[in-house]
Amino acid sequence: MKKLYVGTSWKMNKTVTETHEYISKIVEFMQKNRETVKDLDVFILPTFLAIDAALQITKSANSKLKIGAQDCCWEDSGPFTGEVSPMHLKDLGAAYVEIGHAERREIFMETDEMVSKKVSAVIKNNMKPILCIGEEEKPAQINIALHFLEHQLLDGLSRINNDDLKNIVIAYEPVWAIGATASAPLDYLREAIDFLRDLLNKKFGNNCGNDQVIIYGGSVNLESARDILTLPNNDGIFVGRSALNVEYFISMIKMAAEVQKIK
Ligand code: PEP
Repeated sequence: MKKLYVGTSWKMNKTVTETHEYISKIVEFMQKNRETVKDLDVFILPTFLAIDAALQITKSANSKLKIGAQDCCWEDSGPFTGEVSPMHLKDLGAAYVEIGHAERREIFMETDEMVSKKVSAVIKNNMKPILCIGEEEKPAQINIALHFLEHQLLDGLSRINNDDLKNIVIAYEPVWAIGATASAPLDYLREAIDFLRDLLNKKFGNNCGNDQVIIYGGSVNLESARDILTLPNNDGIFVGRSALNVEYFISMIKMAAEVQKIK
């Protein structure tokens, strides 16, 4: 059975103290509901400063909750003042590293070349990259978006081998749906994700597009989460604002567990 993914990036939110409270609640919920959450992959990406605090809680409880980072450098060490090394994240125990989020691309000028180097560095360090891709505007014709996505996806994956795909999560996050009032329409989402799977099948063969983990992010909230999780070609949700409230995130984990049973 394919796992369903429920993840959140906190962006630049939550102090170490707040992280402690939040992660403790999720860990407790997952311990009490072990059977319910057993086929889910639940992950949280706090700020760099709070990753260690989060990991100390998950490790001491032997929790299935995975902790990761929101970015990293493409080099393990060296003269890169202010950057964070993927090797150091691995050493802490991080499981995931988000790469190429729309805000990194737009505000911090990350190019597809940088994204591709980072994806490769995360894999080399035995963590899983969450590669974010998404078109900037909602086009009148979805084909225009698909053409853009093709380039962004293949450029992001340009340094990886076929075997690495199973260790990559692709987060389809249309930029126009991030921080918006509503998620992308379900039909639109279905078409875009189908396109990505076909593209991977053509490029890498072996039916790998169908096996690829692809999740959706962009204004997922308590109202939209269930329908998005239920979409047959989608493997999960990647949540921003709505998951800052721990009770909402727990509700989404419960929804994913219910959907998982019927999927
Ligand atoms: C995001 O920034 O990736 C995101 C999904 O945020 P939100 O859920 O707040 O739109």
